[in-house]
Amino acid sequence: MKIQELKDIFPEGLFEGEVRFMEPMRSHTSLRIGGPADIFAVPRDLSSLINIHKRLRKNGIPAFPLGSGTNLLVKDGGIEGAVISLSFFRRIGVLSQDSEYVHLAVEAGALLQRLVHYAVENGYSGIEGLAGIPGTVGGAICGNSGAHGYEMKDALVSVEILNKTGSVKKTDAEGISFGYRSSGVLSDELILDAELKLEIRDTEEVSKKVENFLRMRRESQPVWEHTAGCVFKNPPGLSAGKLIDEAGCKGRRIGEIEVSTLHANFFINKGAGTASDFVRLMEEVGLRVKERSGVILEPEIKIVGRDLAHG
Ligand SMILES: Cc1cc2nc3c(=O)[nH]c(=O)nc-3n(C[C@H](O)[C@H](O)[C@H](O)COP(=O)(O)OP(=O)(O)OC[C@H]3O[C@@H](n4cnc5c(N)ncnc54)[C@H](O)[C@@H]3O)c2cc1C
Repeated sequence: MKIQELKDIFPEGLFEGEVRFMEPMRSHTSLRIGGPADIFAVPRDLSSLINIHKRLRKNGIPAFPLGSGTNLLVKDGGIEGAVISLSFFRRIGVLSQDSEYVHLAVEAGALLQRLVHYAVENGYSGIEGLAGIPGTVGGAICGNSGAHGYEMKDALVSVEILNKTGSVKKTDAEGISFGYRSSGVLSDELILDAELKLEIRDTEEVSKKVENFLRMRRESQPVWEHTAGCVFKNPPGLSAGKLIDEAGCKGRRIGEIEVSTLHANFFINKGAGTASDFVRLMEEVGLRVKERSGVILEPEIKIVGRDLAHG
């Protein structure tokens, strides 16, 4: 579809929020990589979101839910259709509480680290290991993010999802098949909010654990660089970072993408890196690991979008 046609479908002032066209995705990913999204919609409230979704469906335009873009490699040709950002959906509140447990209602666009801080302040235990993982609660549910033996799914009671037909459905966490860094949430489903259950503990105890996990993270990961976290999943019982290091890949570079010398499973965009160089480096590293150890690495980052059109 031509940009003018898209603009006609989304005339200015139709919704509460923003709709932009040909929005560079590099401005919305931690890697600072990614071509333009045809449409970039930031609805201000649920009724605007539902209306945008309806209009997209009616015109056969695909919708891609975006969190903070910290687990994404968006290709250089950008994203076809509409990216939907839930950055206005950030509320965190208490649903109910007894002497042992608290139930929280959390909107999908809330930052995971705001949730962790909220839990620390109130002495809520169960997500300490998620301290320092960037991104939103929606992104963490979609990828079942985790670290140090903690996973997002463990605290989850239910999620509310806007599905591709436009209906909003509540699903119990047991009804979603979670795996290692994966969930059964489909790519055309939008997580709107979630109910979490956390244990009520001593504030200092929760705070100490979080501080410890944050320190470990600062010491072992290039958290100040442009990365998307771990590039490959850890094969069962093994460390992808160790395998990449043993295959002699630390510091390998293609264009402006470099394998971190601190943590080999992190690839850094040193400047104006491209998705195609990133993918080439992934292929080269994958090949070297396979030759050295016989292990086939699987991507943990999500590669989305279209290649750059040539000619
Ligand atoms: C320095 C660094 C360290 C990291 N450390 C860890 C770690 O220890 N453990 C770990 O698991 N990950 C880690 N990550 C990866 C990343 O932060 C997590 O996967 C994070 O949960 C992704 O959230 P996001 O909001 O950025 O999602 P995005 O990157 O925006 O999206 C990821 C996927 O989730 C989908 N999605 C996002 N929001 C929604 C929604 N509302 N509804 C439906 N689908 C949605 C997207 O469509 C996409 O498929 C790290 C990343 C960085 C940069």
